[in-house]
Amino acid sequence: DSAPLKHKHLSKPHLSSPISSSLSMGSESDIERILFTESDIAKRVSDLATEISSDLRFSADAVVFVGVATGAFLFIADLVRRIHAPITVDFIRAESYGSGTESCGDVRISCDLKVDVTGKHVVLVEDIVDTGKTLSHLISYLEKKGVSSVSVCAFLDKPSRRKVEVKLVGSGKFYSGFECPDYFVVGYGMDYAELYRNLPYVGILKPEMYTK
Ligand code: 5GP
Repeated sequence: DSAPLKHKHLSKPHLSSPISSSLSMGSESDIERILFTESDIAKRVSDLATEISSDLRFSADAVVFVGVATGAFLFIADLVRRIHAPITVDFIRAESYGSGTESCGDVRISCDLKVDVTGKHVVLVEDIVDTGKTLSHLISYLEKKGVSSVSVCAFLDKPSRRKVEVKLVGSGKFYSGFECPDYFVVGYGMDYAELYRNLPYVGILKPEMYTK
């Protein structure tokens, strides 16, 4: 058609041509394959919320959902709005990754909880359990604060990559959304170099993006 070239470009912000992906990163064209679609995720999160709700036998005001920032922000938002009980929500930030794709194993809590979790039942909400080092560190940190129990609700689980066994506290249970094959994935809160968190699905990042 006769539309000016710049308008054609503006109407297609997510061009999948090699030219656009070589110029910048962070767009949907950097995704090799979608693993879990937006509707797969909505269905699974709803089922998880039902499962967790029926397990919340203890007094509801003693339950604190703790999201591990930043990766779990979309997951915890979708999960807690389906829990119909007066729970508390807080966040903790743990850093173990730089901008690479492998955990260095040196986990550091860079932003602590606001809520006092002493004597509370904590549901730790994680984006993905890979080696298990981050979760194990967080669980022992919470245990030292005197929690009654720690459950884990991980959106994705990569059991084939586990190096550290994840030991729960008290009556805590382990919930997971999907088992994830051994690929580096992004989207639905998960990043590479702080990009791709806003994708509404989970996809495998093209390996050539790691080196950019
Ligand atoms: P772990 O300590 O279990 O090895 O790593 C847990 C953290 O590593 C996750 O919370 C997540 O931030 C990051 N991680 C592990 N695997 C992936 C992955 O495939 N994609 C992304 N974006 N982050 C991952």
